[in-house]
Amino acid sequence: MYHVLSGGSSVFETCKTLYGSSEAGRHFHIPSRLDRFCELTRSVLGSPEEVVSTATIIPFYTQFRHPRVASEILEKVRGAKIAGVAQTLGVYAIGQHSFLQHKACVECVRGDLNEFGFSYWHRAHQLPCTLVCHKHGTLLFGVAVEHRHSRRESFIFPTVDFSDPANLVEQRIRANEHDLLSRMAEISFEIARFKQPLAWDHYWLKNTFLSMVRERNVWFGSTMLDPKKLELDFRHHFREVLEIVELADAVQKRGIYTVWCLIEGVERPVHPEDWVIAIEWIFGSWSAFMARYNSLMSTKLQ
Ligand SMILES: [Zn+2]
Repeated sequence: MYHVLSGGSSVFETCKTLYGSSEAGRHFHIPSRLDRFCELTRSVLGSPEEVVSTATIIPFYTQFRHPRVASEILEKVRGAKIAGVAQTLGVYAIGQHSFLQHKACVECVRGDLNEFGFSYWHRAHQLPCTLVCHKHGTLLFGVAVEHRHSRRESFIFPTVDFSDPANLVEQRIRANEHDLLSRMAEISFEIARFKQPLAWDHYWLKNTFLSMVRERNVWFGSTMLDPKKLELDFRHHFREVLEIVELADAVQKRGIYTVWCLIEGVERPVHPEDWVIAIEWIFGSWSAFMARYNSLMSTKLQ
């Protein structure tokens, strides 16, 4: 954005002005040299911590993890050494497909062009499990961009040729999948922006899911989960999106297993995408999930 407004002559020059180095600010998802960036921009976007929490996709990935992970990542992106950050967060571990694309919403691009004279990549659109705009409900288009380790000669803005079908994700999405995808985009959006004042209590997170799953017909008798019923319930819920490439790993390979581990208390790393799937499946919205968690937490505190 600064590049356009300042009439910057080259990417390298703009990076140098903003970050004090032509090497910085080149990774699409992970920033670096934020200390220098904030100093040079007189913190117009806030402190490095605020930049991370409001302008990057990092908070999505650190939401349910130990607070230590978020502090370690913050330390790294304040400096120049961000090697390994994307891997620690799980940005590339799976769901590669969604990250081969930069995503944008036609309505947002139009609005930005009207308002600013140029368009930019919105954070919310880049989040995993996000195929529709949380604001307009429109299907996002994806632009395939090779971005890893690349040194670009120019910045890429989301002003693509809308008439080129190769750019469009939406051609693969049918209308009846739309509500489900909207809810998932909304959940991703909330995960990225929610600030948990205390760390998540994993014992109560487990109970939050368990108490809700109890109300479903997925049990053998009253105490044992029936894996077959659980799987049927899951596949039925996501039947309309099982074939969508961007969601295939999360929905087909890990979805049920994640919830199973959550409620059985099996320790295993849960990928951030899995939270979206699990919350959508069991609660259908972030607010329903939070309401249940908060009500359980308040009984605990009494
Ligand atoms: Zn939009």
